[in-house]
Amino acid sequence: MAFLESHEKCGVFGVYGKGMEVARLTFFGLFALQHRGQESAGIVTSNGDELLSHKKMGLVSQAFREEDINYLKGFSAVGHVRYSTSRESTPEHCQPVIREDNLVALAHNGNLPSTRVLEEFLSSKNIDTSDSNDSEMMTDAIRYYLLRGASLEDAIRESYPLFTGAFSLLVMTRDKLAAVRDQCGIRPLSMAKLNGGTIFASETCATDTIGATLIRDVKPGEMVVADENGIHAEQLVEPNQKLDIFEFVYFARPESMLLGQRVNEVRRNLGVILYEENPIDGDIVVPVPDSAIPAAIGFAHRSGIPFDIGLIKNRYIHRTFIKPGQRFREREVELKLNPLLEVLGGKSVIVVDDSIVRGTTSSRIVEMIRSMGAKRVHLMISSPPITYPDFYGIDTPRQYELIASKMTLDEIKNSTGADSLNYQSYNGLIKATRLPEEYFSASCFTGVYPIDIGERAKELLLPV
Ligand code: 5GP
Ligand code: MG
Repeated sequence: MAFLESHEKCGVFGVYGKGMEVARLTFFGLFALQHRGQESAGIVTSNGDELLSHKKMGLVSQAFREEDINYLKGFSAVGHVRYSTSRESTPEHCQPVIREDNLVALAHNGNLPSTRVLEEFLSSKNIDTSDSNDSEMMTDAIRYYLLRGASLEDAIRESYPLFTGAFSLLVMTRDKLAAVRDQCGIRPLSMAKLNGGTIFASETCATDTIGATLIRDVKPGEMVVADENGIHAEQLVEPNQKLDIFEFVYFARPESMLLGQRVNEVRRNLGVILYEENPIDGDIVVPVPDSAIPAAIGFAHRSGIPFDIGLIKNRYIHRTFIKPGQRFREREVELKLNPLLEVLGGKSVIVVDDSIVRGTTSSRIVEMIRSMGAKRVHLMISSPPITYPDFYGIDTPRQYELIASKMTLDEIKNSTGADSLNYQSYNGLIKATRLPEEYFSASCFTGVYPIDIGERAKELLLPV
């Protein structure tokens, strides 16, 4: 029985391009995706004869030295950054996944909440799953077909029905690079071109950073393969577009494009609508940096209340959401943010954050702002209450740890110590994207899971 949970929200990047410095491009691509994962980084390249791999714990800049990039020769590459999690922070599970025979390398962003079908398949073929996570089992299924002589396309086609969950995958053999998304396209994946080469990346901030030109998104349910004959695309299953709306709320970088919308614009709209739905008064609008800055700007523009930076973030501290134990977590806010006395003192402060998960950050921030002598602290949250856990690749905690799953609005307000608390409405969230509601998975806000969560459904406490 495979019991390792992966719970990862990661970043993937791939290049296929003869004559290109694929490892160096992938390094910079991963560097631009660093916000999607800080636990480990890895690149695998193909030189046509063999796959070469370098993976390490830590940030991209820590994992690679010049000599590692020089070692990674070839004309195609896949890279991965892995999200920090308290579980299995071990080098063995770093990605891209590559087995001893170096037949295939796989980079996965997403999570399979149910691996039952996959495990049954592998067990029936006498493939041991006992120490494998979902990404490794997907690799083993594809590898099973490759070992029997299937082409990469056929191996993916055959294995695809075994994958129940969210996956944006890059899969590379010696001569081909494939990009594949689940039927709902829960996690993003874009495709771009550069000097005759093909690039795949979780977000467009990574294709922009290397000067590539965006072609389009890989479609939900689609497989796109780059090889010496060019690019060919094939729809494996009917698409049912359901991008995780949390990419717009928090996860993606503001300059990225998702479903044709600039993330920064959507976040500003969130701030505008937040004010329109809750027209409160105050002296200044202060963002919780960095993720809530666009929403706070939108809120300030719409309300006419001056925007100011009242909390300074240490830029060298990375997303530190998952750490074992609540005590650790409480100190982290102070390590990350310092308040500015001159900005906050004596003011009625409207503080904007993008989300409340456990509620720890909000409480600490309210306390911090009060300690600067603020008259009032109004907490404005640019997304709706998070009441359900994520099973598709964000490491949100268990449902009972989500403050909004167990407290009323008033109770949350009291627990954070704010004078007032307002969340975005669900309709406001959808409206801010300027896209139809049915394009999204908003499961953490609604409890509606578009892809079967299988055996994990028993973890839910609230009726759906
Ligand atoms: P809380 O302290 O309530 O548990 O977390 C809320 C804070 O975490 C917010 O400031 C928000 O920007 C941030 N946040 C929300 N979702 C995530 C996530 O998936 N990962 C990380 N690292 N931070 C998150
Ligand atoms: Mg934040």
